[in-house]
Amino acid sequence: MARVYNFSAGPSMLFEQVLKTAQSELMEYGSSGQSVMEMSHRSSTFDAIIKDTEARLRRVLSIPDNYKVGFIQGGASTQFDMVPLNLMTTGQADYLVTGNFSNRAAKEAAKFGKVNIVANTKDINYTAIPDVDAIQYTPGASYVHICENNTIFGTRFTKVPQVEGVPLVSDMSSCILSRPTDVSKYGLIYFGVQKNVAPAGMAIAIVREDLLGHAAQNVPSMLNYTTLIEADSMYNTPPCWCIYMTGLTLKYIEEEIGGLAEMEKRNNAKAKVLYDYLDSQEFFKNPVNKPDRSIMNVTFTSPDPDTDKLFCAKAAEAGFVNLKGHRLVGGMRASIYNAMPAEGVAKLVQFMEDFVKQYG
Ligand code: PMP
Repeated sequence: MARVYNFSAGPSMLFEQVLKTAQSELMEYGSSGQSVMEMSHRSSTFDAIIKDTEARLRRVLSIPDNYKVGFIQGGASTQFDMVPLNLMTTGQADYLVTGNFSNRAAKEAAKFGKVNIVANTKDINYTAIPDVDAIQYTPGASYVHICENNTIFGTRFTKVPQVEGVPLVSDMSSCILSRPTDVSKYGLIYFGVQKNVAPAGMAIAIVREDLLGHAAQNVPSMLNYTTLIEADSMYNTPPCWCIYMTGLTLKYIEEEIGGLAEMEKRNNAKAKVLYDYLDSQEFFKNPVNKPDRSIMNVTFTSPDPDTDKLFCAKAAEAGFVNLKGHRLVGGMRASIYNAMPAEGVAKLVQFMEDFVKQYG
């Protein structure tokens, strides 16, 4: 078996130990005589799995008691709709557009009410994050929405908006569990799990209690946080396998890594190796404003698109896959989520140095 270093933006690498545990439990979970994939979601065995997963998430992220957790089908994009459907009680909300996904989120929200684009970095091709303290927020906005880590453009917020009396909603799909998060700064956090947590197929929402229960009567039950959360994510059949895998990842972060402070240390160290290399030479370029650089998604270009193509092809031959940048940006992108080992990044840098020697 030869496992590659997978730099995909998502779905992405999972911790090897997590995969091994899943493998060892695939045919029979515990002494249940069945796989988690086959198990009734109403069984006591699965009930223990979902409860343990939520409890671990609460411990790892230090989620305060006045926040509820929902395991929700539909990925992060469904959250683009659920957020306005449940939270836009004043008929308007503020959106910071700092990339493709916040733009999509804003467009979805505009189907349900007035969207105020209070910041937009499109004119600089989303290469920097705006100063959140210099933004004119709208009095009477139901919430302020951000995408905390911009997967495609390789930027991230180092400071989040805090507007008196207006809850902050954050899409943390590509940075969740990468570092400690002060959940109390947010009204709602959501993320698709397919980057840092589990296989694709689920989003998790962490919602402050007082924001629940305000959706209009005609909001579909499956898009109503209150319906789903009051039923402990068992209103219908939940994404059982994703929940189980989420639990395994959280167990690994909690027990093997030792929590999010250590996770952040490792992620910062990995990103530094790559950015230090990018800053030390002229062949590859990273366009992002330095203080706003993502520690999860590192973008770079070679001198021209043909060389980008050659680089990706040669890299794939050498076992570094999915380095092609998103079509909106071109070039390359190395997504170095939690499960990418430090060795994978060090070896990629070595490969880049060798490539420049040969083709530079
Ligand atoms: N938000 C962010 C930050 C993302 O990176 C993605 C997917 N790459 C999405 C939302 C959309 O997620 P999904 O495909 O789960 O709907």
